[in-house]
Amino acid sequence: MQKVSLIKQDNYNLDELIINIRQSLYNIVNMDEIFTEGKTVMLKVNAVSNMNYEHGYTTHPMFLKALIKVLKDYPVKIIVGDNHPFNSIKSTLKGNGILKIIEEENVTLADNHELKEISSENYLQYKSFNVSKTFVEADIMINLPKLKTHSFTYFSCAQKNLFGLIYGLEKANWHVIANNPKDFGTMINDLYCITKEQFKENHLIHLCDSIECLQGDGPTTGGNKTKMNAIFASTSGVALDIVGLKMAGLDLEKSFITTIALKNNIELSNKDDIEVIGNYFEQYSLEEPEKPLGAIKLLNNQFMKNLLLEHPIVDKDKCLKCGACAKICPKHTMKIKAGEYPKLKVNQCIRCWCCSEVCPVSAISKSKRPLLGKIIIKE
Ligand code: SF4
Ligand code: SF4
Repeated sequence: MQKVSLIKQDNYNLDELIINIRQSLYNIVNMDEIFTEGKTVMLKVNAVSNMNYEHGYTTHPMFLKALIKVLKDYPVKIIVGDNHPFNSIKSTLKGNGILKIIEEENVTLADNHELKEISSENYLQYKSFNVSKTFVEADIMINLPKLKTHSFTYFSCAQKNLFGLIYGLEKANWHVIANNPKDFGTMINDLYCITKEQFKENHLIHLCDSIECLQGDGPTTGGNKTKMNAIFASTSGVALDIVGLKMAGLDLEKSFITTIALKNNIELSNKDDIEVIGNYFEQYSLEEPEKPLGAIKLLNNQFMKNLLLEHPIVDKDKCLKCGACAKICPKHTMKIKAGEYPKLKVNQCIRCWCCSEVCPVSAISKSKRPLLGKIIIKE
């Protein structure tokens, strides 16, 4: 049985956050046993973008500040960090308001450049990953996902947030290596399990700021901010994600990262094997959540993708010609020349939607689904 703490919190008031974050952690771990003298605590924020936190898809600065204040009751060293695909982490965190908190609270910004290979023979398919060394060499990691819908993975929360352990553009390479939902979901699960092996029991903690969250075509500018008014916490990322899906009124079956975890008995084998602690469950779900279409599990084949699926289109009225979409495109099928708009070779596009994820002005949207796709894919 896995425990998930679920506490109601409907604003970013610092004092209230401190109380409820402390309670959330208290519900799932013995803090006096874990946060002991000299331990390093890595706070892995969700800093997918340098856009202002008010968009609701990066860790809210006040949430981080409150957590740091809770941890300062203990004699630990606090490190904060994440990996952006290509921007410097300092400029990313400056844009989304997190750097200011790091400076105000005088905690350490993680050096993400030095890499470490973490590996294990125990998992499904992918046995080793290059990740930022500082993140996994801490004694304790607190993973701070935002709860979001996602154009490709359908849902993004605790497990998916750890994809950010992978440095820079190597993340995009994984979209080529694991270029269909089954492989990508397996890869995220393998990364999750191997990461977990780096920490002692209960030393990888997931604490989700879902006071504001994202629905629709997330995980960034394509989604719409909404409120869930909840703080989730668990030492099981899989259990936390299941409760999050349920709270949001999303379809667990479409969250292939979660279904692969369940199928392989990662942390739990039954989605109901979860004890929810707190004051909020059953009181809430997004009444009519805007659901992303997500990826179609069967479409592993490029020819079929081209025949049946939407592809990215660039809105020239919004596009800044910044080149971010071309830079991250793992297949180099989105290209840009100086001073021009980006162009896409549709037939080579694997529909990973990384381009839309990094576009700073939401200029990349989905084309209409081809007629055959509308007939065959009923969703
Ligand atoms: S164009 Fe966009 S969706 Fe297509 S492969 Fe490149 S990054 Fe992925
Ligand atoms: S990332 Fe967005 S704004 Fe930048 S070039 Fe691509 S479509 Fe245009």
